[in-house]
Amino acid sequence: MKARKAPIRTCIGCGASSDKRGFVRVVRTPEGDVVVDPSGKSNGRGAYVCADLECFEAAVRRRRFSSALRVNMNEDDTDRLREAFERLLVG
Ligand SMILES: [Zn+2]
Repeated sequence: MKARKAPIRTCIGCGASSDKRGFVRVVRTPEGDVVVDPSGKSNGRGAYVCADLECFEAAVRRRRFSSALRVNMNEDDTDRLREAFERLLVG
C-alpha cells in the first residue's frame, strides 16, 4: 500500500501553507450556507483558515471567504460563522 501524501492547505487569512493539522475547514454547503466543518469531510467547496481568530478576521476583512467559496456573505452570515469558529477553537 502506498502512503498517501497529506494535501497542502493554505490559510485564506494569512496565506501560510502547511500539510500539518491546525487548519479549520470552512465549507459552503449545497444549500449555500457557509459553515465550519470540524470533520473536514463535508461535501462542498471548502476553504482553510488557521485555527486562529486573527486569521479568521483577516479573511473576513479581505473578503476571502466570499471569493474562496464563491458566495455572498452578509454581516449575519459572518457573525454566525465567527461564532461557530470560536466555539471550535474553545473545543
Ligand atoms: Zn493563517
